[in-house]
Amino acid sequence: ALVAMSIFASIVLGVAVFIARQRPSASDDISQGLRAGEFIPYYQPVINLNTGRLEGCEVLVRRRRRDGTIQSPAAFIAQAEADGQIVPLTRQLMRLTIDDLGACYARRRGMSVAFNLCAHHFTNDQIVRDVEAIFAESPISPSQLILEVTERFPLDDTATAVRVIADLQAVGAKVALDDAGTGHSGLAMLHRLGMDIVKIDKLFIDPIQADTKNAPIVDSLVDLAKKLGMSVIAEGVETLDQVNYLRSHGVDSAQGYLFAPPLPAASYIALVEAMGSV
Ligand code: C2E
Ligand code: CA
Ligand code: CA
Ligand code: CA
Repeated sequence: ALVAMSIFASIVLGVAVFIARQRPSASDDISQGLRAGEFIPYYQPVINLNTGRLEGCEVLVRRRRRDGTIQSPAAFIAQAEADGQIVPLTRQLMRLTIDDLGACYARRRGMSVAFNLCAHHFTNDQIVRDVEAIFAESPISPSQLILEVTERFPLDDTATAVRVIADLQAVGAKVALDDAGTGHSGLAMLHRLGMDIVKIDKLFIDPIQADTKNAPIVDSLVDLAKKLGMSVIAEGVETLDQVNYLRSHGVDSAQGYLFAPPLPAASYIALVEAMGSV
């Protein structure tokens, strides 16, 4: 029985080693995806609530696997942020966005495009050099860029973050605080970090209904943003009641499934051409 057990154990071990060799680490898997060009931009329209017109989009990454399946960022973005591969990934997304939208945006200078950055991007000035190198001579001007930094994670080195934000603004980009209300920086940081735009998280938009008289987080973010001269974008807008509330409470723009989900390039461009954008 002992012999049978040890044979069994070595087979199990052998199979485990075989599987381990077959399956790359999460980090290697992302490197492979980067080399194969599997990370692609989807574009979610942003609507100006005062004019009802399209003012731009947010780039939301997807991974298109070789078998054609599309993966959402939840499957890989945390890993890419943790090991720093988010930096080359963001660079690839920026180049692909220029390929997709360059011709369309060169004729519409008022249209914006937003990219998501993470805390990692604010630890040194690589992102500033990337933005300069990628957009300087491109058909999309740096002044059409919005760079979003999430409040979900702390910016550990505040001094460096403040400098990177100012340098990105000096290149012509606007900087937005993403997921506002959910995170670490707190409202005082809004001022300290010198940002241009506040994006209110879906969490605070969800509860708004037809009979909603006040939405405390939304109301105070709008109030503070206005005092600081910033504009406000609401995310995750799904109903007309939410649009009515947000518009009458000073929110400038909105994105959400009510208008459109993140779209592949061809669908987004078709929408820009159909909607007579800014
Ligand atoms: P986020 O920046 O807060 O983006 C909004 C998320 O809400 C997106 O999910 C979007 O598809 C989804 N969404 C938009 N409107 C609605 C709506 O009306 N209802 C509902 N239920 N959902 C809506 P997605 O595309 O899965 O992205 C998830 C998160 O992954 C993003 O949250 C962002 O933090 C991160 N992410 C996406 N792309 C990138 C990227 O290129 N770089 C980095 N660093 N992070 C990214
Ligand atoms: Ca975002
Ligand atoms: Ca959010
Ligand atoms: Ca500023």
